[in-house]
Amino acid sequence: MLLLKVAILSLLHPQQVTVNNIVITRQGGQLDVDGQRQASYLSRGRFQIRVAPDFRRTYTGQLEITSKNSELQLILTATEDDLIAAIVSAESPGAALPAALEAQAIVARSWLRASRRRHGHYDLCDTTHCQHFKEPAPQGVRAAAATRNLVLLWQGKPFAPAYSASCGGRTRSAAAIGWRDEGAYPYFSVECPICLRNEPEWTRHFDGDGAATLRAHPHSEAARLALGRRLGWDALPSNNYELTESPNGLLLKGRGSGHGLGYCQKGAAGLARQGRSPAEILRHYFPGTNIMSRQ
Ligand SMILES: [Zn+2]
Ligand SMILES: [Zn+2]
Repeated sequence: MLLLKVAILSLLHPQQVTVNNIVITRQGGQLDVDGQRQASYLSRGRFQIRVAPDFRRTYTGQLEITSKNSELQLILTATEDDLIAAIVSAESPGAALPAALEAQAIVARSWLRASRRRHGHYDLCDTTHCQHFKEPAPQGVRAAAATRNLVLLWQGKPFAPAYSASCGGRTRSAAAIGWRDEGAYPYFSVECPICLRNEPEWTRHFDGDGAATLRAHPHSEAARLALGRRLGWDALPSNNYELTESPNGLLLKGRGSGHGLGYCQKGAAGLARQGRSPAEILRHYFPGTNIMSRQ
């Protein structure tokens, strides 16, 4: 079984963590492990990590802790299936049916296979840069096991499939939002009947710099991210909008949330409720791809 190395909890910039009942504190370039000076700490199995004062999470695998760049660096080595279970648990709405969970598991596995070694000596981090993880819930574990080794291929090669929360009624193509990923899947704009019927319209108004950014790069993901960084992540919910000039700036009316590329979580949950299989759901959002078993 494939093993991956993930840098965990780096967003918390930990100086001290408790692993089960062992207190590990950074001291200079070394660790203090329950009063003993050590260069690193290694543990295997299932463990609970607590970061003061009230954050705790359980992981399974091998954990190595060292001191790096003035904080503790925690590297978890885990099996692919354990990570997929954790991703599916983090990314799926509570009431999602097995077909949607399994489709999300295949997306996650394809993404993991195509995204190895993003960080040099480890594969991934657990921030939005790479991938959020949660403690694996039982339905996530089942979805990972039911889809073991299944990946999405485009022109015979694995790729890192994009997904977002809700496309708002129609997914985007990579070209439409200026998404550059050389040689990867181009993404096609497909209708998403569940979002079309159920996603409420949102309205936003932009003037000054925000309007200038949108006039220069309308509908682009780069513009959406730039506005998000400047004005907050709800400034522009999605790339699915109509844009009109008004006397005091730009008026946007849109639907959905997220970049709108590829797999739509809300739409997939709806297709699963209509009885569609994981393969049918994936073929809908990723036209032209195949699902294959790859060791
Ligand atoms: Zn990363
Ligand atoms: Zn959708």
